[in-house]
Amino acid sequence: MSKLIKKKIAKKASAAGCETGTNSALPKKIRYVYSFGDGKADGNGSMKPLLGGKGAGLHEMTRIGLPVPPGFTITTEVCTYFYDNKKQYPPELADQVAAALAKVEKSVDKKFGDRTNPLLVSVRSGARDSMPGMMDTILNLGMNDEVVEAVAEKSHNQRFAWDSYRRFLQTYGDVVMGVHKRSEEEHGPFEDIIEEVKRSAKAQKDTDLSADHLKTLVERFKRLIRARTGKDFPQDPQEQLWGAIGAVFGSWNNDRAIVYRRKYGIPHDWGTAVNVQTMVFGNRGDTSATGVAFTRDPATGEKVFYGEYLINAQGEDVVAGVRTPHPVAQLAEEMPRAYRELLDVRSKLEKHFRDMQDLEFTVEDNKLYILQTRNGKRTGFAAVRIAMDMVAEKLIAKEEAIRRIPADSLSHLLAPIFDRDSVRKATKIAAGLAAGPGAASGRVVFSAKDAVELAQKGERVILARIETSPEDLRGMIAAQGILTARGGVSSHAALVARQMGKVCVCGASALQIDYVTQTLTAGKLTLRQGDYISLDGTAGEVYAGEVKTAASEVVQVLVEKRLDPKQSKVYQEFASLMGWADQVRRLEVRANADLPNQAAIAIAFGAKGIGLCRTEHMFFEGDRIDSMREMILAETLDERKAALAKLLPLQRGDFVGIFREMKGLPTTIRFLDPPLHEFLPNTEPQQRDLAKKLNVPFERIAHRVEELREFNPMLGLRGCRLGITYSEVTEMQARAIFEAVAEVQKSGIKVHPEIMIPLVGFYKEMSLQFEIVHRVAKEVATEQNAKFKYMVGIMLEIPRGAIVADELAKDAEFFSFGTNDLTQTTLGMSRDDSGGFLPQYQELEILPNNPFATIDQQGVGKLMEIARDQARKTRPDIELGICGEHGGDPQSVKFCHRIGLDYVSCSPFRIPVARLAAAQAALEKAG
Ligand code: ADP
Ligand code: MG
Ligand code: MG
Repeated sequence: MSKLIKKKIAKKASAAGCETGTNSALPKKIRYVYSFGDGKADGNGSMKPLLGGKGAGLHEMTRIGLPVPPGFTITTEVCTYFYDNKKQYPPELADQVAAALAKVEKSVDKKFGDRTNPLLVSVRSGARDSMPGMMDTILNLGMNDEVVEAVAEKSHNQRFAWDSYRRFLQTYGDVVMGVHKRSEEEHGPFEDIIEEVKRSAKAQKDTDLSADHLKTLVERFKRLIRARTGKDFPQDPQEQLWGAIGAVFGSWNNDRAIVYRRKYGIPHDWGTAVNVQTMVFGNRGDTSATGVAFTRDPATGEKVFYGEYLINAQGEDVVAGVRTPHPVAQLAEEMPRAYRELLDVRSKLEKHFRDMQDLEFTVEDNKLYILQTRNGKRTGFAAVRIAMDMVAEKLIAKEEAIRRIPADSLSHLLAPIFDRDSVRKATKIAAGLAAGPGAASGRVVFSAKDAVELAQKGERVILARIETSPEDLRGMIAAQGILTARGGVSSHAALVARQMGKVCVCGASALQIDYVTQTLTAGKLTLRQGDYISLDGTAGEVYAGEVKTAASEVVQVLVEKRLDPKQSKVYQEFASLMGWADQVRRLEVRANADLPNQAAIAIAFGAKGIGLCRTEHMFFEGDRIDSMREMILAETLDERKAALAKLLPLQRGDFVGIFREMKGLPTTIRFLDPPLHEFLPNTEPQQRDLAKKLNVPFERIAHRVEELREFNPMLGLRGCRLGITYSEVTEMQARAIFEAVAEVQKSGIKVHPEIMIPLVGFYKEMSLQFEIVHRVAKEVATEQNAKFKYMVGIMLEIPRGAIVADELAKDAEFFSFGTNDLTQTTLGMSRDDSGGFLPQYQELEILPNNPFATIDQQGVGKLMEIARDQARKTRPDIELGICGEHGGDPQSVKFCHRIGLDYVSCSPFRIPVARLAAAQAALEKAG
């Protein structure tokens, strides 16, 4: 390239507001631009971090010979540079872009900005992980008043040329020049003009507009841009190009992209790539079309070609839901040749990427082009089915199936569905596409803002929109289910629902949704904001009112035992997957279960023990709470012992039930833990009632409540401090356990209790409690002429315990990390009070996750490792587990695997998730 041209380009680039930086410390010759086209590509599919997902996909597809229009990718490193250097570009960039553009021009034999044979391009965003619809893309770039004439002449199609120009003006005006709608309620300013012109032309659809109408649109769009920005729309294609590149990089930090990244934990410093690509046109008349397709059904996972298209349209039309697209199968009749090619692409893509693909295609004059491919987002159901089918098809190995299915997606398989009988009785008001399986009932709201507000008040809400757009994201996150009146399987609502595992019905066209009156009308029935509505996202049906839910198929088979496994494909897949997971995992999974029926559910879900049985829960049921209260109100030891004597048989009965269910599996029982005031009523009327019931003076109750009041109950008289203060409570609990053991053993069932003292920080605290346990064990053994095998250990949940773990391990045979309290005490943060600041902490990235959901590995995790190392010094074979909420969180489970715990314990419905996450963790280590 001549020096002169180089200079010119640099000048143009800077004229477009993108001064090149002069950071001389930067090593020379960094490659910022990668070309693809004509079967060759500088990059490949593995280069997502550098080229972005879209870019890497375009390079890879080019390599395997798919029909991809040529172009080039500007790397994510440029984005990083851009933000690190006050929105300037690296100095080498202008030259590299010019060279890559020249290559494209040569390949397609057209010239950018040429007045006879112009090249038009798209400028497309594309981050490492796809962020659908969050950032910007500009089509038909290179159009201006002269180029449009050339395009018209060459294509012999005035309408097509002017349609492309007006589209370009519309997005360029919006994305680059900032001509947006001014408020939520307003329509877009460009859309308003289109509506006006359509009205005066008496046109129904966009396609009814003639070339002259489109010319009018172009003129009015230009005037709008000038009026709103005070600037003319740039006629110079180079200026357009750099303006667009800057806008795409800029869109990395728009509000919705930031919200999205936060939701999906995508780091803000990854940056986006920019793809500049030769335009192909789906809007060249009836031999052209554009569409999107999934190689399998992304909602159910079924192996059917799934997608939709529009004749005579450009990319965004399909997703935007402006016109209702046709199902992809119909293309077989409308464009048989292109359809055959598309089917061929479908199988090539699946064989090559060995995963379900989500692709974009355009047919220009009966010729097929592929514009994007990526691993398709899918529901939990689809994730399981696709992986299992692909193993059967020998596309992937079992290990790959385990790795690939997000552990959390198993919770979708366990989520309730609508009860068949209730559905039959309910009023069905509309049908639409089954875009997100599952059942949801809640109050209907019509804006994202209302959804968020109502959900914050603890209401279940269903967000109903004519169609959703990325601005609705916060509301969609807050809602139980999403309902739209317009839009197909690739609409924004469907896409987001799939990804978030939300129940969703799309395109329920019988519904009239009115944002102004906040009503939803179906025939004669009108629902107002706040009325109940129910969605069956598996069948695609909408019901007025609340519909009762029933257990999922898996639960019906395993827990309720009322569905034959042979009748449920979902169950069968679930079962084989669990079987494979169990073969590879090392970490054992136990359950947090307090009552016999919970223990039974836990076993049905595959628990190999109970990791936490909270005895206080036993005291809340029915009349028991009264005996408990008598015990708390007791003024003398004798009174207290009398009350405890009433509790003993009840507690023993519970343990008998649990031990019978557990059939010799380890059962960890924690002694009384919560502060005593939790058992007493705190309002005067309630206290008066209780006084009457227990036949004690009201004043005594009021006085005791006052006595028990603490400034900070979380750090007060609770945990083993209770057992120290009232040793007779510990004694009663130990007796209940051992008498139950004796009873169950006599019936020939093995029992393996692990007795756990909570909140231990001092050796002496622990040993005093252990002494009682051992003494009672001996007493009961003699009384019953029985032998017991049991373990004693502690719940490790305050930092001091971790620090003196070597000392504690002298007597403690196991530690169970109580990570709920350990997180509260390590962070000095009360879980129940964290709502006021945690969201902001996450926004500011002070914390990567909610530490009460996912273990804070650097802090709490570090303490766990310290405790492990200290403990193993004195007791190398000490049993280590975790029983906090974190035991069912996939990331935390993987952490527990890595630090070598023996088991995780979680709530029964999270067990399958934990089993899969544990298997994934084992495979991570393996390679
Ligand atoms: P998003 O990430 O929002 O999907 P894309 O960059 O994929 O944005 O583009 C938006 C739409 O424009 C898609 O339908 C895509 O297929 C279409 N498109 C992008 N580039 C081209 C092109 N060079 N020719 C034709 N259509 C294109
Ligand atoms: Mg796309
Ligand atoms: Mg605790």
